Order: sequence, then structure tokens, then C-alpha cells
Amino acid sequence: MARLMKHKQRLKCLTLLLCLLLQISGNAVAQGARIIEWVENSSASDNSKIALGYPVPIPVDTPLPFDGFRSYNGLHTRHQDLVMSTPWVHPHNVGSTRAGRAVWAYRLGDEDLLTPYGLPEPAMLTNGGIHAREWQSPETVTGIMELLVDQQDDHHLYRYLLENTNVILIPVLNVDGFMQSQRYPEGSWLGTDLNDPVNWPRDGRMRRKNMLSTDEDLQTQGDHLHGVDLNRNNEPFWNTSPDNSSSNMNSLVHHGQSAQSEPETMALDAAAQLGPIGQLSMYTDVHSFGQIQLWVRNSNQRLAQQTVRLLGVFSDHHRQFPAGKSYNYNGINNVAVNSGIGSTDEYFTHTYEVPAWTLEIEPTNIGGVAYGGLGRNGHDGFILPESQIRRVRTELAQTFAAAYYRQAGPPAVTAFRLIDQTTGAVVYKAEWDAVSPAERVLHEFQAQPVQLGRPYIAWIAYNKPMRWREDGEVVPLPGQPGSTLDFEADVVVNETSLTTDVLTAEWQNMAPDGATGYYRYKDDAIAIEFNHPLDTNNQASVVGTVMAGAQLEVPDMTNLLSDADPSTVARWENGAWSGYENTAGLDQTDSGGIDSTLHYQVTSDDLGDPFTIDAGTSAAWFDLERNGEGFVLEILADHRAVMYWFTYDDEGSQDWYIAVGDIFGNRIEFRELLQVSGGKFGPGFDPALVKEEVVGSASFTWSGCDTGVMDWVLNRGGQYRQGRMKLQRLTRLMGLDCGSPVLPPVQPEALLSGSWFDPSHAGEGYTLEWLVDGRALVYWFSFDSDGARRWFFGLGEWVNGKIVFEEMLTTSGGLFGENFNPNDVAELPWGSLELELQCNGGTANFTPGETGFPAGSLSLDRLTSLDQLACP
Ligand SMILES: [Zn+2]
Repeated sequence: MARLMKHKQRLKCLTLLLCLLLQISGNAVAQGARIIEWVENSSASDNSKIALGYPVPIPVDTPLPFDGFRSYNGLHTRHQDLVMSTPWVHPHNVGSTRAGRAVWAYRLGDEDLLTPYGLPEPAMLTNGGIHAREWQSPETVTGIMELLVDQQDDHHLYRYLLENTNVILIPVLNVDGFMQSQRYPEGSWLGTDLNDPVNWPRDGRMRRKNMLSTDEDLQTQGDHLHGVDLNRNNEPFWNTSPDNSSSNMNSLVHHGQSAQSEPETMALDAAAQLGPIGQLSMYTDVHSFGQIQLWVRNSNQRLAQQTVRLLGVFSDHHRQFPAGKSYNYNGINNVAVNSGIGSTDEYFTHTYEVPAWTLEIEPTNIGGVAYGGLGRNGHDGFILPESQIRRVRTELAQTFAAAYYRQAGPPAVTAFRLIDQTTGAVVYKAEWDAVSPAERVLHEFQAQPVQLGRPYIAWIAYNKPMRWREDGEVVPLPGQPGSTLDFEADVVVNETSLTTDVLTAEWQNMAPDGATGYYRYKDDAIAIEFNHPLDTNNQASVVGTVMAGAQLEVPDMTNLLSDADPSTVARWENGAWSGYENTAGLDQTDSGGIDSTLHYQVTSDDLGDPFTIDAGTSAAWFDLERNGEGFVLEILADHRAVMYWFTYDDEGSQDWYIAVGDIFGNRIEFRELLQVSGGKFGPGFDPALVKEEVVGSASFTWSGCDTGVMDWVLNRGGQYRQGRMKLQRLTRLMGLDCGSPVLPPVQPEALLSGSWFDPSHAGEGYTLEWLVDGRALVYWFSFDSDGARRWFFGLGEWVNGKIVFEEMLTTSGGLFGENFNPNDVAELPWGSLELELQCNGGTANFTPGETGFPAGSLSLDRLTSLDQLACP
């Protein structure tokens, strides 16, 4: 570890020179301007030194966190290393310093600015190193970056923050000043500041301001008081507080030529724009010392109330660490209203109306004495002992995460399922789809009414992790009351609550499995085993089939109650929560309440088991309103399924997706929707160039043999899209019964149903369905000679031991998603195809008619066999 020996040596010489001078002139110099040395121990009478009582921290040029302070170079290397080695840290040069050095901001999060739910991500800005000597600050802000990266795979709080927010960090804003203070870690001027108490050290280790009109040489006395206090350089209260800011450029609180005159101040605002600014929901300026949170108010009472609650979350969380450090803050009635000193927290409170504060890191105002130091000069509080910095850095980072979690927004129900416990079938499901940054639409599907006396699981998922755990047990987030573990649920018919027997209610911290498990993050969903017993109350309320309403209320980890109306997206806007309704449906209360938006059928009838998927679900399916696209589903053994989605792109060309999914009751979950690229039609096909990319997911749910629903999500290239379709059966396969008796006798060729491909053409292939009417339906998922995905299909017949598709068809004119219009789809002849198949292999011969498609043949292997149609 290369210490900054060069500067240290020069300082030693300087000090030696001063010592000589002291010997010559005695007290005369002692009273005057001099450079003092910060040391661990010295005699109290030696006024050339100030002893701390603990080792003087010397910055080290190393990127990795250790029990000490990193140099600017070490910190910067660390940040850039994390940029290179992880997908979560995005660097932005947001401006430059007075000396022309780059000011770096880092956006922590995924690539896009959208949550996995398709909504704009809220942003939180945390600024470090605005005051040069406050070395605790860059270490702490860097600690936040290190914590989020380190915990990226926790599937809980930290992954949630990375995927759902933009945490913007400026580890060091005042780069010039910070480097100057590290250049002279053991030296400062004393007795030169005529505006402040004579014992206040300046420059070197005790530089606070930026480096306007000053050089980097500590010895040059004439300029050492120069520079601008960047925390006095801001609108809207710039130069309005003569006691706390000054036009004298020698002053410790010199406010600069004008508001926002300094390039560093401009860089801070540029970093805020990365949010983007309309998404900003929190700002913190990290200083030391004082162990306190400082804030101000504008006229927005709601902003003040939310700020003070956020400061409470921060302070209460941090006090729970073993060190018990308490970060105090003033109540609403004890802070400045519409006045200030020119600080950055005022700027963010007044300009952007987000909860904003100045965090003064420990120690308290007793300074180094808090760690057993000597307390010879009140400024020793700026010099946190090396022994403390790891604790401060890692624990404050965790506390920041709690604050970010709260400002990510109130919780809202995002998905709800009622699962028949006997069969695993989802009898009712509801999902809120984002349709704009401020709006969601509810989609409900009921496969069967809920039956009295029958056991169910209610699975309720929220849009954020809702519970904290320690040693595997759900406990309040540190500092939060036990009431944050409450969950209130009721089921109401005609304003009467049904009797509900609840067997278990467990927050889900296991990966999704069937219809339960967590949704996206650990503890974002709760599963409640219940039944509505056949008691007199329920038999009086439920006569025949009636509508019931769920009523749900739950706080998140920081005691933000759930949004009573998810149709309006709760978000930070104009200095308060917006779209965040209470039980009465009122917005602008910042309170949340009981969500009663979900309704489903309950019946007193005995309906028996709901439909579950079996082999007969293998078929082609389509949406009656979307004739021209659809799905081929193959139900395999072992509760798995293959899905081919024949569709279009946004330009009107054919496109297709493929997925392998898991079957649960009446549902198939395709967690990875794949798009295949790199293939080419004909002899130019090179399987080595074929790539599969996960571009989304899809989920299918059936209510019976012939009907169901599906929903899909595509999330690629920063673009999030989702959609839904109704499912109607298009084909019925020979040998596979679903609901009705199999009409013709099963012929041996029925066993040829399934998927086929040529291993030298891995990336294209056929799915064949032998239909009940004795004909065969084939879909060929392939490419054109330019590599564009194409699909061809046809109905064929058994002719002399071959399946002959005399007229293969293709389509044109369809558009993906909401722009699809079935009237625009044209069917076009494509050519002909012959398949000669045995149980496990065969040949395909094709003669395309479309230009650019050469005739040829493929040697086929079987890829899949359908459940109940396995070849012997
Ligand atoms: Zn400060």
C-alpha cells in the first residue's frame, strides 16, 4: 500500500522549519500564523502540533475498503472497478471542478429507467465530499455503492432497490478540495483566519471550500484562505444570511460570486437531472461532523411531514446498531421556514420539493473525545479515527438503504390469486398492469367460483418486499414498531364479513413455486391458507353465486400503508405522495388505507374440482379477436410444456418466440420467453451463429378444456411491454382427450405429434399435430435467407408413407401487440413440404415457391414427444 509519502515528507520539512523558527523567536511566532501538525501525541504546550490522542489517518491509494481512509485515487479506482465488473453501476461525468477535474456521479440500478412492473423508477440522490475535510463522507457514499453491489443477489431489499430505483451517488463533489486535504493529511494553517476564532485551523487537512483562486501548495500563505463554500453557493437563499455566509473570499463560508457560480455546484444539479429530475424523491448531503440531521421547510406542510417521517426512519434504523448512535433532528416546528443560508439541502427542498437534509456523520459535537481522543482542538471531530470508519461506512450504508426503500414509494397490490388447495388450480386471479406512468388497469380472471367449505390459499403480492427478516424470522425493520408486522384482510359480501378460518399466513421468502412463493422479491407476497366454513353466517350471506370483495391493508417495512387504489400509481410528485389513496378513496392524504378493489365470485353450490391441465391441452390456441397469430402448445410428461408463439414484429414482419414452461394445476408458467436469432434459411444455416435471448415471460391459465387466458411481458433494450390474450382452442389432437370422447380410433401416426429438428439446423424446426380428423398440421419456425424470423404452416395428409403438405402458407401484414389488426393479415402461398417420419427420426423435403428460398431437405430428429403420445 503506497502511502502518500511525498506530501508527508514535504510537510515534515515544513514543520521542521517552523520548529526552528519557534526556537528562535519563541512565543512571538506561537501567537501568529503558522502551519501546525496533526499528531497522535504531543505535549499540550507544544503549539506547533495538535494531538488527537489516536493515530492520524493517512489516506491510502487502495480501492478496497479497509479500516482507514482511501485516497481520492483509491476511491475513484474503486468506483470505476465496480463500473467495469458489475452491470449495476453506471458512470456519468456530471461536470468539472475549478481545476478542471471531472466530477463523477454514479447511477446504481439496472440498465433502463423502468421498474420490472413497467413504471418509471424513482430516484434518490446522495452527495458526498462537498466539504473537503469531511473524509467520513466519501467513504460512506462509496459504502452505499459497495453495499448495493455486494448484495445484488439477495432477492430482497437490495435487488429490489437496484431493479426499481435509481440511486444516484456523488462520492466526491469537491474533488479539488478533497485532494488538497489529502495532500496534507497532517498539516493545517492556524492563527490566520481573522473572521473566526483564532484556534480554527484552515487549509491542508482542514480545507473546507473548493479551490477557487488558490494553489495546491500549502506553504503559500497568501491564498490559503481562498475558495468558495459550496454549501453556501445555492439558490434560493444565497447571500441572505450574513451570519452564516459571507462575500469575503477568505471566509470559511464564502458564498461565491453568485448563486450556482461554482462548477461543482452545477455538477450537483447535473447529477440530479440523471434521475431524471421529475423522478427524484430524496436528497441527502453527507457531511461531518455533529451526528445530526439538518433540514428546512418551505410552505408545503405535506413535504415537511414526509421529510420528518423519513428522518425518523433513518434515525431509528441507525440507533439499532450495537454502537447505538443517535442521529437527532428537529421537529417540524423547530426548523427554518422559507429561509436559509444557501445550502444544498435548501436547494432541493425548495427547488425540487423532495425530502432533503444535511447528514452530519458522527462524532457528536464533542469531537474526537467520543473515541477516547484528547479533544485539544474542536476540529478533531473532522478526523474520525481509522478504527471507526469501517463501522460508520457499512452501517450508514444500510441505513441509507432503509430510507431509499421508503422513498421508492408506498406498497400496492400487484397480483392476487385464489388457489384451490386440493388441485393447485388458480380459481381467481387479478393483476394490475401499468398502462402509463400514473395509471394501472386491473385484469381479473375467474376459472371457478370459490366454494364454501373448500380449502384455498390466498396469495397476495405487493410491488416491493414487505417484511424484514433476521435469522430467517420475520421481524420489524430495525427501529420500526411491532405494528409494522400487521396484515388486515377481510372478505365481504353485501357489507357482511364472511366467516374465515385462517390456518396459516406466511410471508413468502422462497422462490416462486407453482402459485405460491415470492413474486419478484423475497417477502413481497403473503400466502394465507383459509376456508369459508359452511356456518350459518356464510350460508346466510352466500346463496347461490354472489360477488365477494377482498379488503386488504398492510404497512411496508417503514410503516407506509398500502395504496388503497392501485389504479392510480402512488409516486412522489410536487412535494408529496400522489395517487396514494386512503380507505375513503381520497388522494393527497399521504396515508394509504384499505384496498377493496378486488372482487370475485363465491358460491354455496358444490362444483367439485376446478379444471386442471392434462395431456389434452396440447393444441393450437388463438384469441378470437386476433386471428392470424397464436400459440402451439405441447404438453410434455413431467409437468412441463413447450410453447411456440407465432406472431409479428412492430414493422409488420413475421416473428416468433419459443419457451419451455412448468405446469401448476390449471396454469403454465413460461418464465423465459426466448427469441432465437442468427439462423438462415437453406444451406447457409450455421447452428454456431444461432443465439437464444431471454426477452420476457408468459403465463397461461385455463378455466376449461377450450378456454383460458394468457399474459406476456417483453423487457428488452430498455423497452417494457406487456399484454394479454384470451385463449380459444383451435385444434384437437388425435389420441388426446379433453372433455369429450375421442372420436376416431387412434392411428399409429398420432404418435408422430411433437417437435422435430435437424441437429445441423438447431435453431429452426417443426411442430407437428396429428388432428382428430386424420389430417396433420405443421408449423415450421425458421428464417429467411437474410436471417429474419419466418414461419410457415400447412395442413397435410398421409400419402404413401409420407405426410404431404401440398400447400404451405405464410402470412404478412400482422403487427405485434396492441397494434394488431386481423384484417391486415394476409395468407400467402409459400411452397410445399413432405415429411417422412418414423418414431424417432426422418426427413423433410421442401420446395418453396417464395423467392429467396431454395429447395432442399433436412434430416430430422425428434425433439419432443407429447404426454400420452410417446412412441414406444
Ligand atoms: Zn460539511
